[in-house]
Amino acid sequence: MTCIPTVTDAAPVGRFAPSPSGRMHLGNVLAALIAWCEVRSKHGTMLLRSEDLDPERCSKAYYELIKEDLLWLGLDWDGESPPQSTRSAAYAREFDKLDALGLLYPCYCSRSAVHAASAPHASDGTYVYAGTCRDLTAEQRAAQKRKPAWRVRVPDEVFVIQDGIQGRYEENLLHDCGDFVVRRADGVYAYQLAVVTDDAQSGVTQVVRGGDLLSSAPRQAYLYRTLGYPVPEFCHIPLLYAPDGSRLSKRDKALDLGVLRQKLRPEALLGLLAFAAGLLPKYEPISAKELASVFSRETMSGKNSVYLPKELM
Ligand code: GLU
Repeated sequence: MTCIPTVTDAAPVGRFAPSPSGRMHLGNVLAALIAWCEVRSKHGTMLLRSEDLDPERCSKAYYELIKEDLLWLGLDWDGESPPQSTRSAAYAREFDKLDALGLLYPCYCSRSAVHAASAPHASDGTYVYAGTCRDLTAEQRAAQKRKPAWRVRVPDEVFVIQDGIQGRYEENLLHDCGDFVVRRADGVYAYQLAVVTDDAQSGVTQVVRGGDLLSSAPRQAYLYRTLGYPVPEFCHIPLLYAPDGSRLSKRDKALDLGVLRQKLRPEALLGLLAFAAGLLPKYEPISAKELASVFSRETMSGKNSVYLPKELM
């Protein structure tokens, strides 16, 4: 299946979908900046949604700080979608649709059992599920002690994503990923199902986010198709690296906006980031609005890494 985005010329509906598990860091800032420039440069609509699926890690207080950080950066939005923690009923309906198609089955494997039986996914370190629980009999299921997670069966089919920044990306879902979890054993719906349900039901036509999620796009394209929704355009931003080439960690406090806001004006921060990402030919302080007026994602085309200048570190 080749995923050609359904809407390309119309004004896009984009979104920021932060997980409020901490302060915004530079990776979030670059994703939000590009999502916002895409929408504002084409007179589209920007939505904001809290991805607070994981109650242990997320908090309303962080969400409020993220909103404040976005506004400090000059990145506004036109509407707020309900937070994921309030959307279980909607996810349950999509889960039931998959179940009615005979695509779901309970999986009793522990995390270590999955790792032991599987090969790591080449690009993102997650594991290709070996299908251990795919064909258990009713008796075998009845004999299990653990609460199951629920997996969706994937086809032996190549999904091709035409990513708006990274270009062509493809995966055979069965061989490169395997059946994946749509509801965890604790009853929380998994990110893949929640994000597709939310984006589809809020009319999102363009998904701009971190490059670490590129390998989720084929799974999500499969869910969109199976659940009967159009596939949005995907744009995965380059990964960020320190000047010495080491991969940045989300946990590095020096790179979150709590610290950076003490050191820099928003225009300086945006100018440094935009120049490093190839959005500006040279460094100059710039507001988000000014950047949107000169923005072209083509200047980033095929770029999968951004090396940050030392002024941001
Ligand atoms: N909530 C995810 C994050 O904050 C983004 C997920 C998405 O954009 O699909 O990294």
